Amino acid sequence: MKRNYTGCAICDSTWGNVWAEVEGERLFFCCDICVTQFRRLVDRVKRETGWTSLDALDITGDRRGRTCVAASGRESLRFFIAFTPQGEIRSFGRLTG
Ligand SMILES: [Zn+2]
Repeated sequence: MKRNYTGCAICDSTWGNVWAEVEGERLFFCCDICVTQFRRLVDRVKRETGWTSLDALDITGDRRGRTCVAASGRESLRFFIAFTPQGEIRSFGRLTG
């Protein structure tokens, strides 16, 4: 999966030392909560789009809310996502434009 972050897959932090396999790829995370958030994000995008895999993910924002662009093949989805402190999805919305 192509990503814009080189640090933690969710928040881009470079501290921490958690590795988790998501979508068949070993990714770096700063903490277990970010792993939970990332798994939920990927699952939610797949559920919303019907995609079987994600090729790319671009994230901007912070813990109050993140704007993301996910892509699979030629399709892409822009969306807003926010999580609870436990890593559950608090809000999710498709963005247009
Ligand atoms: Zn993180």
